[in-house]
Parts: sequence; C-alpha cells; structure tokens
Amino acid sequence: MKLRELLGIAFAILMGSLFFLFDVSRPLGTATPILYVSVVALGLLALSRRLTLIFAMGGTILTLSGVLFSPYENTDLAMIFANRLMALFAIWTVAIAVYTYLCMQERINAALTKRADTDELTGCLSRRRMLTELEHRITEEQRCLTPLSILVIDIDHFKQVNDSHGHIVGDAVLKNTAGVIAACNRAADLIGRFGGEEFLVICPNTDLAGAQQLGERMCQAVRDSRLSPGDASVIVTISVGVAQYQKEMKTVSDFIAAADKAMYRAKERGRDAVELHVPGTGVTAAVLES
Ligand code: GH3
Ligand code: MG
Ligand code: MG
Repeated sequence: MKLRELLGIAFAILMGSLFFLFDVSRPLGTATPILYVSVVALGLLALSRRLTLIFAMGGTILTLSGVLFSPYENTDLAMIFANRLMALFAIWTVAIAVYTYLCMQERINAALTKRADTDELTGCLSRRRMLTELEHRITEEQRCLTPLSILVIDIDHFKQVNDSHGHIVGDAVLKNTAGVIAACNRAADLIGRFGGEEFLVICPNTDLAGAQQLGERMCQAVRDSRLSPGDASVIVTISVGVAQYQKEMKTVSDFIAAADKAMYRAKERGRDAVELHVPGTGVTAAVLES
C-alpha cells in the first residue's frame, strides 16, 4: 500500500472518530453528519477509488449509527430523517464524483503512458521505454543469473532510400522493416526504435549464440522482404551488432555501446551482416554517444 493511501486512512480514522464524537454530543436533528463528506474527499487526496468507496461506506454507517447515540430532545422526527438523508445524499454524491474523476484520470494517464512508450511511426516501443526495460532486465539478470542479450540494428544506406524514393517511402520502409524484425522475435523479446533508422532488441534469457542466430534470421528476413511503393522496388538490408550482458558493464550505456560497436564492425565488413561483441574487450559509453 502506498504512503499516500496510508495517510488517507489515518486521517479518515481520525476525522471520522472526531466527527462521530461531535455528532453524538449534539441533539438529534442537527446537520452534523454532513461533516463526513470531508472524510470521503480524503479518497481524492489518497488518489484511491477503493478508499473513496470505503470512506463513503464508513460515513454512511456513522451517519446511521449517530441516530442511536445522539441525545433525543423532542426534535421533529421529519427533521431528523431529512438531515440524515441529506448527509447521505451529499456523501454519495461526492463519492461518485471523486470515483468518476479518478477513473477518468487513470484512463488519461494510461493513454499518455502508452503514447510515451510507443514509437508513433513503427508502433515499436519508444527509446525511453526500452531504456527503462533494459535497466529492469539487467537487474533481473543479476538476480537470477540468466543470460541477457541485445541487438542493435541499423538499416543500411537508408539515406539513399530517402534520396531516391522520398521520405514517404522512407517512412514506409522503416515501418515495414520494423514489422519484419518483430516477426522474427520470440514473444519474450522486446523491440524498440532507438533512433532514426536504428532499432534495439532486448532478448531476455538468451546467450550470445542465441542472439546471433536471431540476428542472422533478421538479416535474412529483411533481405528477402520487398517493399514495392508505386513502380519502385526497394531492397533493404540491415547491419546487426549483438552483445551479451557482462558483469563489467557498469551501466545500460556500456551494454548498448558494446552492441553498437559490434554493429559498426558489421558496417565495416560490408553491411548486411551480424557482428558480436567479444566479452572482455574494452567498451566505453563514449562509443554510444559518438
Ligand atoms: P549506413 O549504412 O552507414 O547506416 O548509412 P545510412 O544512410 O543508413 O546512415 P545515415 O546516418 O547517413 O542516414 C540515416 C538517414 O535516416 C538520414 C535520415 O534522414 C534518415 N531518417 C532518420 N529518421 C527518419 C525517419 O523517421 N523517416 C525517414 N524517412 N528517414 C529518416
Ligand atoms: Mg544509423
Ligand atoms: Mg543506417
């Protein structure tokens, strides 16, 4: 349970008790139970729909039980009934309003998170989400000692695609390549767009050899895929750098830099190839930033 919720509960118990003592010290017929509305509003401070309903139910029980304990001083029964009913009405109106507001807020938050986590053009995960996931997976790897590998993928001569066919075709090639790469992945793998025409694939529970096989499958699948916008036929290839996480990689950047460096070696080898990071070779984050 979150601290905000614990504070909400503590305040609700404190305020509910004080209001109840005040209510039963006043003669029946006074409008004291209306105070329970502010207890319901604590659900909003706790940002909890569940607590909002629990506080409203608590307010309802206290409103009704106040009738049993408050002194009866020849008050008009209709007035007693009307005051308690008005308090219940106010409690539940506020509870429903808070509940609806929190539902709406959760939906907006989920939509914003989804937007921030998704690359708009390709539908892959965003760079931001990939970095968060990679950090999380590295922690898992250290805890469970299962191998973790990544692939950095760069489309070859992509500038030429844009220059020869235009940016709209370039965008279609990016989208198509992302789809082809994603189709090669296993369900547990994560694929994200890391830069302009660069993708990152996270392969949990996969060693270097497994990730190499995946990279080679991807190279083959992209090479075999054809995108035919209009009369043109665009042939695309990719260069892939593969790295397996090693203890000496201190940060996420070191890990990505290792795969990035291998990818540049694939470019040097003539592109349309897979290169591996050799464990134990010095890697610095500077490679990533260059
Ligand atoms: P290399 O084989 O060495 O990787 O060559 P390259 O041409 O792929 O690499 P370079 O870095 O020279 O060019 C990348 C190009 O990718 C340049 C940029 O205009 C293009 N690009 C980046 N993002 C997008 C995008 O969202 N849409 C399109 N259409 N092009 C993009
Ligand atoms: Mg590039
Ligand atoms: Mg490129």
